[in-house]
Amino acid sequence: MDNLAHSNETTSRPATRSRISPAEALQLVLDTATQLPAEPMPMLETLGLVLAEAVAVDRDQPPFDRAMMDGYAVPEGAAGSELSVIDQVAAGGVSPVRLGEGHCVEIMTGAPAPAGTAAVVPKEHTRPGEKGVLLPKQITPGQHVVPRGSECREGEVILRPGDRVDALAIAAMASFGKTSVRVIRRPTLAIVTTGAELIPADGVPGESQIRDANGPMLWAMAQGLGLAPVGLAHAGDQIDTILENLERFSDCDVLIVAGGVSVGRFDFVPEAVTQVGAELIFHKVRQKPGKPLLFARRGDQLIFGLPGNPLACHICFHRYVGPAIRKMQGQDPNRAELTGRLTEPVEPRRGRTHFVLGMVDEVVGAGPLPSVRPLPGKSSADVFRAVGPNCYLEIPPRPDTIPAGASISFTRLDKI
Ligand code: AMP
Ligand code: MG
Repeated sequence: MDNLAHSNETTSRPATRSRISPAEALQLVLDTATQLPAEPMPMLETLGLVLAEAVAVDRDQPPFDRAMMDGYAVPEGAAGSELSVIDQVAAGGVSPVRLGEGHCVEIMTGAPAPAGTAAVVPKEHTRPGEKGVLLPKQITPGQHVVPRGSECREGEVILRPGDRVDALAIAAMASFGKTSVRVIRRPTLAIVTTGAELIPADGVPGESQIRDANGPMLWAMAQGLGLAPVGLAHAGDQIDTILENLERFSDCDVLIVAGGVSVGRFDFVPEAVTQVGAELIFHKVRQKPGKPLLFARRGDQLIFGLPGNPLACHICFHRYVGPAIRKMQGQDPNRAELTGRLTEPVEPRRGRTHFVLGMVDEVVGAGPLPSVRPLPGKSSADVFRAVGPNCYLEIPPRPDTIPAGASISFTRLDKI
């Protein structure tokens, strides 16, 4: 049944590639996806996005000599003596005192050290004296004071174009007053499910009905990439409703249609995609699951027709949609393809790459290859027992059993 040869469908539809390998399919997706333009965005909405401008330090950090402990700001040569306490300064305050012989200022963590401070002595290293505070015999000059500008200097570039925004980058932007920053924008994405048999998760299914798993799953996978889908619609199995939804979401950067992409009588997605004027780039990939995968372009919009089997839908998003979205956002598109050792033999599929959910050990540092265990499962049932898998094994199309201990490629699932 599996066919290694390239289909001669190409003669009837010259522009559309068919029965290509997963590697060719990914390449076509990545050749088509382009980085989106940059736009200014509120700092707090940029988590996970890629910067399109540099962020510089707006003033020395710290902006003053900062106390690192609660205690006393003391002048030079004060070790072992008793000093009178002539002022108090808290974080956010300023002491007008210039420290000289015989006196000190009580100071709190985060407060600016008064002029003439040689060191801060932690409170717990002092004792009360007759007229003030008794200091220890050893005081290291500069102790517990962070000098102005010692963390970073005004004008220093701290984040660069191409850097990915994480929580620490947001802390830096907040510190330097960068409340709006230019980033490569997030793609907009909508999801359309097809299938006359589907009802929503809160419905009670009739005998031949099932609940929609793909809509919520794809929504979650988009969220895992930092996107908030702009729409989730169900189109049944009529070409008119599919066309309506293709029109409705024509403005999105990425449109995912799940189900109805195969060759069944009611699989209208390929026809509908062509009818709305999209260019069908490929249809059908030599892989299992997910053989009917379809990929098209309408103007700048990418359209993915994912097979309805939930596991097929999952692997196709993981392997093709995710990389496209990462590329559009200016990120490294590919999940690292890693190598592990099989814990048990696997039977390859003839002529098709087989993607199998699995478990990979955590390996810390440069040790031996991690062990990768394929998880048993049958088609979409794999998603029902999905607590546990953290990777996809990529079993190449080979004629013979791949033995335990052989090396195998895998990609990590991570968040999605
Ligand atoms: P299709 O790709 O439309 O031929 O669907 C393949 C299989 O996946 C069928 O058994 C469908 O009932 C099932 N299926 C399609 N869409 C969904 C969905 N959204 N949630 C769960 N199962 C689905
Ligand atoms: Mg269907």
